[in-house]
Amino acid sequence: MELWQQMLRDSVHSVDQLVEKFHIDRATAEQIDQFFQARINPYYMSLIKYPGDPIWKQCVPDRVELEDFDAFEDPLNEDAMSPVPNITHRYPDRVLFLVTSQCGMYCRFCTRKRKVGNSDKISMKGLESAFNYIESHAEIRDVILSGGDPLMLTDYMLEKILIRLRQIPHVEIIRIGTKMPCVLPQRITPKLCSMIKKYHPIYINTHFNHPWEITSESSRACQMLADAGCPVGCQTVLMKGVNDDPDTIKELMQKLLKMRVKPYYLYMADETKGANHFRTSIRTGIEIMDKLRGHTSGLAIPYFVIDAPGGGGKIPILPEYVLHHDDEKIILRNYKNQVYVYKEAVDKNNPKEKPAEKKPVKEKISISVPANARNGNGRNGNGKNGKHPEEIRKISAEEITEMTIIEN
Ligand code: SF4
Repeated sequence: MELWQQMLRDSVHSVDQLVEKFHIDRATAEQIDQFFQARINPYYMSLIKYPGDPIWKQCVPDRVELEDFDAFEDPLNEDAMSPVPNITHRYPDRVLFLVTSQCGMYCRFCTRKRKVGNSDKISMKGLESAFNYIESHAEIRDVILSGGDPLMLTDYMLEKILIRLRQIPHVEIIRIGTKMPCVLPQRITPKLCSMIKKYHPIYINTHFNHPWEITSESSRACQMLADAGCPVGCQTVLMKGVNDDPDTIKELMQKLLKMRVKPYYLYMADETKGANHFRTSIRTGIEIMDKLRGHTSGLAIPYFVIDAPGGGGKIPILPEYVLHHDDEKIILRNYKNQVYVYKEAVDKNNPKEKPAEKKPVKEKISISVPANARNGNGRNGNGKNGKHPEEIRKISAEEITEMTIIEN
């Protein structure tokens, strides 16, 4: 037995253990076990610093999970978009392929609780019909292995799946969605990496939510995957009491980059049965993004997305940078709230690109300017040294033309 398998075996998972370790009353522990069982392996448990901390919240069951039974079991409508067992086909050229119901830890915020935990929730018998579906749909060029966690499979089983997928000529890219580098990094072994590198291009989407999850072990695991030639990206879920402040997210994103993991998505937590206590306001997410862009490397900035309920797909949400846009110009603000005008490119020889008649601009735009800033001085702006107190003024888009900092 490999070390990671031994650690799984040593996980906290039973009602007795929940009562003993976390002082959850027995009746609640039994209800939670029925609803969505626990699995906390010794590695992830060792990251907890105090009860209720951001690591604890992600893995230790809480009775509030039992209080929002009205929410969705399948918030992203994955089951309705499943043409055959184990496959979700939502986007034109890619499919989600569920290959196991098991995970190295059962995250309390999981949106796939209906599929995760008991081994019968995802049938291994469904694999054959899934392969047949992928084979018969030439438009599928990207297969995302998920579950559960595909790295819960043995190397042997995983390799069988990769071999089979690589026999399908139109499958160009294989992605593996795995939380193992974060929750059980001991799973990333030299043997696993040597096997994976035979089936490139393989991309890894991992999942870290808090800077405390970045340890020497998880860092080593991610770097081993990168050394094996896998581009490694990270999906993070924004969660109340876990990571819903700009400093935590910034530290996390910067630390991910240091271990060669590219921040990919920052998700709003989905409306999910038993997990609504993790949801933050959308405004919180937008404010966090506003404090990332410009304040740290662009490489460290994920897409902030809402996975549209009912299966509408990921929709990116941006802080408001466009203050005004007409046929002649766009008025933007930068990360310091300075306002810039950028003129539209117009090809006069192309009638389609000739500017339309200038329309009167009626709307007023709120911008933050120094109290003593003057119009027409080429700055909106920071005054001489940016020390002027700021005020919010409402001005029209036409006025802003005279206050341009940079004109192209
Ligand atoms: S690893 Fe993923 S699928 Fe498994 S419990 Fe956590 S969020 Fe759910």
